[in-house]
Parts: sequence; structure tokens; C-alpha cells
Amino acid sequence: MSFALKELDSVYVAGEWVKPKSDPDPVFNPATEEVIGLAPVGGRVEMEAAIAAAREAFDKGVWPRMSPQERGAKLREMHAELAKLENEIVELMVLEVGALRSLAKAGQFDKPMRDTLHTLELGSRYRDTPLPPGNTPNPLGQRTFSGGVIRREPIGVVGAITPYNFPFLLNLVKVFPALMTGNTVVLKPSPFTPFSALILAQVAEKVGLPRGVFSVVTGGKEAGELLTTDPRVDLITFTGSDATGVAIAKQGAATLKRIHLELGGKSAHIVRGDANLAEAVTNGMRFTTHCGQGCVLPSRHLVHNSVRARYVELLTEKVKALKLGDPNDPSTTLGPLIRESQRGRAEHFVAEGLKSGAKLMTGGQRPSHLPKGYFFEPTVFDNVDNASPLAQEEVFGPVVAVMGFDTDQEAIDLANDSRFGLAGYVHSADLAAAYEMACAIRAGGVHINGGGGPDGNSMPPFGGYKYSGMGRENGEEGLNAFTELKTLTFRQSTPSA
Ligand code: NAD
Repeated sequence: MSFALKELDSVYVAGEWVKPKSDPDPVFNPATEEVIGLAPVGGRVEMEAAIAAAREAFDKGVWPRMSPQERGAKLREMHAELAKLENEIVELMVLEVGALRSLAKAGQFDKPMRDTLHTLELGSRYRDTPLPPGNTPNPLGQRTFSGGVIRREPIGVVGAITPYNFPFLLNLVKVFPALMTGNTVVLKPSPFTPFSALILAQVAEKVGLPRGVFSVVTGGKEAGELLTTDPRVDLITFTGSDATGVAIAKQGAATLKRIHLELGGKSAHIVRGDANLAEAVTNGMRFTTHCGQGCVLPSRHLVHNSVRARYVELLTEKVKALKLGDPNDPSTTLGPLIRESQRGRAEHFVAEGLKSGAKLMTGGQRPSHLPKGYFFEPTVFDNVDNASPLAQEEVFGPVVAVMGFDTDQEAIDLANDSRFGLAGYVHSADLAAAYEMACAIRAGGVHINGGGGPDGNSMPPFGGYKYSGMGRENGEEGLNAFTELKTLTFRQSTPSA
């Protein structure tokens, strides 16, 4: 099986490919600004049809009534078909998202494919939990046998809405656990990255997922609004910005939908005075991963004042050595931002940084040697005020804010002085002290001396505190998020033998 972008001109609704009435949208290669294809834009008609089919498939279809093992087998077929498309999907991650080829392969394809297998394995092991049986004499001279089970049942129709930065990964991390637990799914991807979602639909069709179990409606905010307000949808799982998360929580509230939110971050990277500076700088450089377009990246560096000058010097040297350019070129170490609007956002926060009196160490400009593509120089600011917009807002670009501290408590207070709480990082030669700090940081994941980190094993629960979200993805927690718990008890009295 292979695919051609020009053939992905229809949305996948109720097991059919449907060409929407609206004009298609051009999708751009962020590195060249060239159009890579025209994507269908789903509107009310297509979204309504997808939701109706998902409702029907859930209420009357076989999918929720199959055993986890049967669903797991079907989804493994889907996984195997995706594996055959590895080259095409990796290529698409370069074209559609501007990911460096190495990241496209390891982070955007291999990792989610590995994690999905693990999810299917875990989900196939789901069993009802028995309550202890009773078998006791009753006052009528009979015996009463009683017992029960705790069942995990699917929630119903799931609306999945995803962002652009890791599109294939984030589609998989929602669609597979939702389907595995017996739900039906309507996926609405980012309008910047529609093709990586339509490929999933092609594969679902190929393996014969029952009609309506999985639909993909590409489009923008309007399609998302329809999905999050329709009373036939039971749960919304959303990954994206905190502002959209707030909007979606409001949109879903009127019909009391279950809402699962994975939102932004402004994660603190704490470097204690005793840290291995080379290691701390290497891990701190992750603020540039995928041109800063990662939710967990360390975008605020809190550095002990005794080592801050040296740290900033080393960090700046490494940042200056990055090579911007074609994501296909193996020597490139920094690709583009997704769109002009995202580059404008980076420029806005650079201006805010300068206005607030922060010291620009390097970057802050469009690279003059790359006139095409949404490139932006990796940027280091020192002496940033934690109250400034540069330190408080998510840039989602290659811009880092460095600030100093004198005591552990001050570092913890600075780390927690943020509306976000997605990740945190601590570097220290004193593991016990670092552990104490990690416990005090209000974030969903904290990693010491690079342990775990953005590239680590993702199967532990993933998610955020505060404005970074509600709920957890990955592994068992990620599966449970798509289930309701039912306590089912029974009793029967029979004459004593
Ligand atoms: P975004 O919030 O702009 O858009 C995300 C999705 O929401 C898109 O599909 C968009 O069309 C849709 N949408 C927008 N308005 C909507 C509305 N009112 N109702 C329904 N749907 C709507 O996010 P983005 O710019 O695509 O992605 C970047 C953001 O995603 C960053 O904030 C980043 O931190 C976050 N993110 C979080 C995680 C995580 O796991 N916590 C992972 C990746 C990205």
C-alpha cells in the first residue's frame, strides 16, 4: 500500500470517502513555502454525518461489543499497515511539519508506533474485576449467593482534536486507546497537518474497521466547534494550546462532555550550582528541538547565580553552532516553524523580551540566508524577569529565557510561578536535593539529570497540572481515560440443600 497526496482530497465519513462542498485548503511545506497538496475542508454536513455514524456504530454496532482481544487483533492489523507505510509517513512528517528527517523517523514515527503496540498489548489484557462472592444462609432458611464485577466500559463517541507539531504521534496516542477500549472516534486534526490523519483513515478502510467506528474530518476551528458542541459526542480528547483548551471546555460544558486536555507548557530547567554544566547545557538545548515546537521543552532555564555566566556562555556557543536549513539535509540541526504566524509569534516575544530589559545573547532574527521557509534564529535571552511575558507565555518557537537564583527554595518558587505545569527538569550532583526539588515542582513530569526527558520512555502517564491540562495519556492511564467504570452486582436466593 502507498499513498499520493493528491488522492487525499476527501474526508472519511461513515466508511466512505466524501468530497466536501467547500474549496480545499492548500497545505504548505514550512521549509520551502511550496504547496504540498490541497486538503479537504470538512463542514457541517460532513461533521454531522461522521458524528451520526459514530453514534450508530457505538449504540448498535459490533465494535463496542467485541472482546478486547478481538479489537486488539483488528487494531494490530491497522498498526501493521501503518508500519508498511513507514517511508511515506516519515517523508510526510518532513513535508507537512518541517521536522528534521531524524526527528521524523525516531520521534514522529518509531516512538508512537512502538508505544501503540504497548497500548494494544495492555488493552488486550483488560478483564472485569470480580467482587468477592458471598454464599450465606439467609433469615428465610435459604442460601443467598451474591457477587459482582467491576467493568470498564467504553464511554461512547469520542471526538479527538489534535495540533500540528507531532501530528502522527498525537493522532495515534488518542485514536488507538479510544478504539481499543471500544469507543467510536471522529478525528479532527490541525488544518496545517491534515494528511497524516487521512492516512489513518486509509488504513482503517484497508483493514475493514466497521462503518462509522472511525471517521476523519479535516478542517479548522469551525469543524472543531461542531464536534465539541454536538450532544451525540460523549468525550472530547484534545491536545493543543491552553486558550483553545479553555474554549473547548466551555463548548463541551453545555452537554456535560467528559473532557481530556493536553495543553501547553513553560517548563523550568533548573541548574543547581553543583550540576555537571556540560550535561545541563546539552539537555537545556532541547528548547530548540523541532524549532521549539514541543509542549514539554525546557523553555525557562533557572540557573544558580554562581554558575550562570558560564552556563549562558556555553549555551550561547552551542546555539550559535546550530545549522538552520533543509530538514532533509542530515547536517541540518534546526528546521523551520510551521507558518508565518508562528514566526510572528516568536518575533513578538523577542520584542517583549527586549522591552522588559532582558539581555539578548544571540538570535532574535529571521536568518538572512534563508529567504524562503518559516525559519527563525534560535534565541537566548539572559536576565529575564519571570513576571515578563517572555517568561510566562508559551512562545512555541526556539526562544529560551534564562534567569538566576540563589537558593533551592527560590528556584522552586520561580518554577512554580507559572500558570503551566507540564514538565520540569533539575540538574544537580546531589540526587537527594534534586529529588526534593522535583517533588516540590507542580508539574506532571519532572526529570533529573536528563532522566526520562522529552525523548525518554513515554509509557508512564503523561499530562499536566494547572493550565497544562486535565487527565493523562499513555499506558494504562491513557486507556482508562476512555472508559467508564460500572459496578455490576447480583444476588440469588435458593433453598438450602
Ligand atoms: P491550537 O490550540 O491552535 O489548535 C489545536 C487544534 O484545535 C487544531 O486542530 C485546531 O483546528 C483546533 N481548534 C482551534 N479552535 C478550536 C475550537 N474553538 N474548538 C474546537 N477545536 C478548535 O494548537 P496548535 O497551535 O495546533 O498546537 C500547539 C499547541 O499544542 C501548543 O500550545 C502546545 O504546547 C500544545 N501541545 C500540547 C501537547 C501535550 O501533550 N500537552 C502536545 C503537543 C502540543
